[in-house]
Amino acid sequence: MNIKEYFSSLIEGTHSLIKGMEVTGKELFTKKVTEQYPENRAELQIPERFRATLQFIYDDEGYHKCIACKTCERNCPNGTIQIITRMVDLPNGKKKMKLDKYIYDLGSCTFCGLCVTTCPTNAIEFSNDFEQAVFRREALVKQLNYLPEKEKPAPEPKPAAAKPVAKVDEPKVETKVDEPKDVQPSQEQKETE
Ligand code: SF4
Ligand code: SF4
Repeated sequence: MNIKEYFSSLIEGTHSLIKGMEVTGKELFTKKVTEQYPENRAELQIPERFRATLQFIYDDEGYHKCIACKTCERNCPNGTIQIITRMVDLPNGKKKMKLDKYIYDLGSCTFCGLCVTTCPTNAIEFSNDFEQAVFRREALVKQLNYLPEKEKPAPEPKPAAAKPVAKVDEPKVETKVDEPKDVQPSQEQKETE
């Protein structure tokens, strides 16, 4: 490198350094967007539709709507869901298949949403609770039906329907119209004739 090239590269480097410092200097005065997690956990805004983990939808009384049809299990492309069922005897003597365990492996879920969109009873949904980190992979396998199974109360018998009252026809009253009797001409009429 001769002296000319040396100074040329020195000027080029200084120019590049000033350019970089200019970009850095601008950032000193722009609005900060860095999230100070977990200190800001209380103010964190997680989008409502963010898919963090699959969960059961329980109503206020602790009932879920899963009918153990296994549609979600069949539609899951990578075997993330395992439905374990059991047969129960109904009061009417019939048998019915019911959900025993709904097993979901968060570690293999790709969050495609096929299970949620194909469920015929809208029994499952995605939660946006993003804090799902664990120390062991086995801890990512969850049983989603975590509440104790409750039997729905038998429907109350319907009150006996009131017997229809037989309709009694009103007796028909025939109004008899008297035939006009022979009218005798008056004296005045006789005189005119
Ligand atoms: S979650 Fe839905 S699709 Fe899956 S077994 Fe239950 S009812 Fe069927
Ligand atoms: S989101 Fe997709 S991969 Fe995850 S459990 Fe549902 S169907 Fe399977």
